[in-house]
Amino acid sequence: MSNNSTISELVAWVQRAHRLGTIGELLGWDEQVNLPAGAAEQRAAQHAVLAESLHAAASAPRIGELLAGLEQRDDGLNDDERAIVAQARRDYNRATKLPTEFVREKAIQGSRGYHAWAHAKAQDDFAGYAPVLQKNLEFAQREAAYLGYGGAPYDYMLDKHDPGLTAAAVDRLFGELKRDLLPLMRAIVASPAATRAREVAGRLRGFPVDAQLRFLREVTERLGFDYTRGRIDVSLHPFCSGTGSDVRMTTRFKEDHPLNSLFGAMHETGHGLYEQGLPVAQLGTALGIHAGMAMHESQSRLWENQVGRSRAFWRSFEPRWRELFPVQSAGVTSDELHLAVNAVQPTLIRVDADEVTYNLHIVLRFELEKKLFAGELAVRDLPAAWRVASREMLGLEPANDREGVLQDVHWSDGSFGYFPSYCLGNMIAAQLWARVRQLRPGIEEDFSRRDFSWLLAWLRENVHAPARRFSALELVRRVTGEELSPRHLVEYLRERYGGLYLG
Ligand code: ZN
Repeated sequence: MSNNSTISELVAWVQRAHRLGTIGELLGWDEQVNLPAGAAEQRAAQHAVLAESLHAAASAPRIGELLAGLEQRDDGLNDDERAIVAQARRDYNRATKLPTEFVREKAIQGSRGYHAWAHAKAQDDFAGYAPVLQKNLEFAQREAAYLGYGGAPYDYMLDKHDPGLTAAAVDRLFGELKRDLLPLMRAIVASPAATRAREVAGRLRGFPVDAQLRFLREVTERLGFDYTRGRIDVSLHPFCSGTGSDVRMTTRFKEDHPLNSLFGAMHETGHGLYEQGLPVAQLGTALGIHAGMAMHESQSRLWENQVGRSRAFWRSFEPRWRELFPVQSAGVTSDELHLAVNAVQPTLIRVDADEVTYNLHIVLRFELEKKLFAGELAVRDLPAAWRVASREMLGLEPANDREGVLQDVHWSDGSFGYFPSYCLGNMIAAQLWARVRQLRPGIEEDFSRRDFSWLLAWLRENVHAPARRFSALELVRRVTGEELSPRHLVEYLRERYGGLYLG
């Protein structure tokens, strides 16, 4: 059998499993957007059947045979084929190397963990949750060992979300970021403008939901989201799922926090544009899937922050905003609006954090995860360690664990190693943005004319089209000509927020 026909057969198997996965995503989307209250159990049963089919498809012995054959004749493969084989191997190992019993136990533990966390958070009872967390940690370490990462379980957790990422690399990047960002954040927070920004943001009240929806629909369409290949709905927690020609975004509306809905939607639009930019014919293979969570997050952050919080963006959209909200915007000047859009205030809660302080929330979580996995921190000591880190990073100490170690859902089902991708996404976004401004110094004039086409085309060609041919770090190197560095993020924040707060 030639390499060509073997690759074609492998791709067919891989895409079949991927399609089953996307059906599961669609069920998940429907669950969060449309599900009747009484249908939860029926839906859970549907998920279970689908999960079985998916596992059978992803672990089919024929995939193993095809991979073994291709790996033996590796020198006959071109770069794209090699990328397809490497990604298929990665997926196949994940599907076959974990014992069935372990997968079953872990699924039960994950669901139990979620409920234990929800209960502990409501009751502010970390002690009751600690044994669950301990068990999640052990499951994660066992999983890493099954996949060949016995000596470096935290590297495995990072690699799971971002292929090729290591704790050492994150450690270096975050260390440098923390050193430069802390003094900048403290200076911004101490400035009188910080108080004014909060005051103005607090004045934005009573924005009718239907007009908010109209505005964000116009904005996201203008940014380039293709509504013939995607849609936006309302859910409790905003998310983006689906890929290729069927991308589902969600948002939520609060009449007294109109900017949250808008920026949440622009964030999800960034995720959606990335998925819509992947080559549809190759979906599911390395040539048609995203490069990892950090790269994904870079796309959402770039549209939300570098674009959506810029002066130029608001120069073009402010008139329409005032037209839709004449009463609510009456007492707010353009300068005040811009300040409110870029309000900075340290908060204990990560999901409420602004663009500047958000990164410190992530560095805090990374440092604790790293110590947990290295055995340098015991689960029972987490709340105290959290308080110390929170005081150092944010200048705030949580009065209880609900506002501290219990605030996030991630660890409850064993999703360790996920947090860093948020902050790496900010770094990547800033580095891509620096490159964009070199290549097109007048880009903000485009924005002033509501023209985002150059930026989208550039991202399509340089970031979306390569899909998963390269790791995130390698892709950044290729696109920007240098290694990923926190320098660009710090410079971007200094320029935007320094002007507003420290001018
Ligand atoms: Zn995101």
